[in-house]
Amino acid sequence: MNLSEKMLVIRTGRFKEYDLWVRFLSPSKGILTGFAFGGCRSRKRFSGCLDALNLVLFKVSSGKGNRYLVLEEGSLINGYPELKKDSSRLGMALNSLRFVQQICPEGDDSSRIYALLLDYLETMDSNSCIPSFFPLLFRARAAFSHGYQPFIDCCCRCSLKLNDIAQPVFLFAEGRIVCCRCSHSNDRALNTRRESLIFLKTLNTSSPAQWCRWTPDSSILQDCFQLVESFVEYHLDDGLIVQKFNSLEFK
Ligand SMILES: [Zn+2]
Repeated sequence: MNLSEKMLVIRTGRFKEYDLWVRFLSPSKGILTGFAFGGCRSRKRFSGCLDALNLVLFKVSSGKGNRYLVLEEGSLINGYPELKKDSSRLGMALNSLRFVQQICPEGDDSSRIYALLLDYLETMDSNSCIPSFFPLLFRARAAFSHGYQPFIDCCCRCSLKLNDIAQPVFLFAEGRIVCCRCSHSNDRALNTRRESLIFLKTLNTSSPAQWCRWTPDSSILQDCFQLVESFVEYHLDDGLIVQKFNSLEFK
């Protein structure tokens, strides 16, 4: 594989005196790990770019026998300096990066989550006042755009429209809703509210720049948190997501 793309650095670590492993999000191949040989001292090939939360134009090639990736060189595109100066915004960004690592393993189509993450980081870098609910909205939007898209337009058993359902019930295993008349006692379900589901539908077509102007009710945020966490956790625990990073050996 030979790639030249703008990648977001997620983590780095040293594995020999001057060498680093680098975990990064690519726009097309999910989260990958490559080796920057001499990365600790090569100012020419990696000038100031091998740190977490840097957007870097990397040249990547396959190592011996295609067993690993080698970062040949990199140039910094954006280091999000304002975000990094502010511990609150930095904490939110790192929290969101951890979530991306959970749901986007190596080999996944990462084009949508990559675009969303860059948009999110740019918004946080250019706005000093970021509301505390930003990471929650990011988790929901990232999960939806990365294959965890719930279908919440109508009851999945009788087709009653969301606007006509007084007390919707969210089936987190199926990612669908039912009205209270169609709800069964053995459903894996959460009671929720219509306005919270309408908020999630709006969120799904919004951008981080718009979130800065939103003032959602705390009860809606609480509902959204429960819906998204129950849905994503159920599918993560079901073994659908495999963390391949742990299978790599760093010598
Ligand atoms: Zn129904």
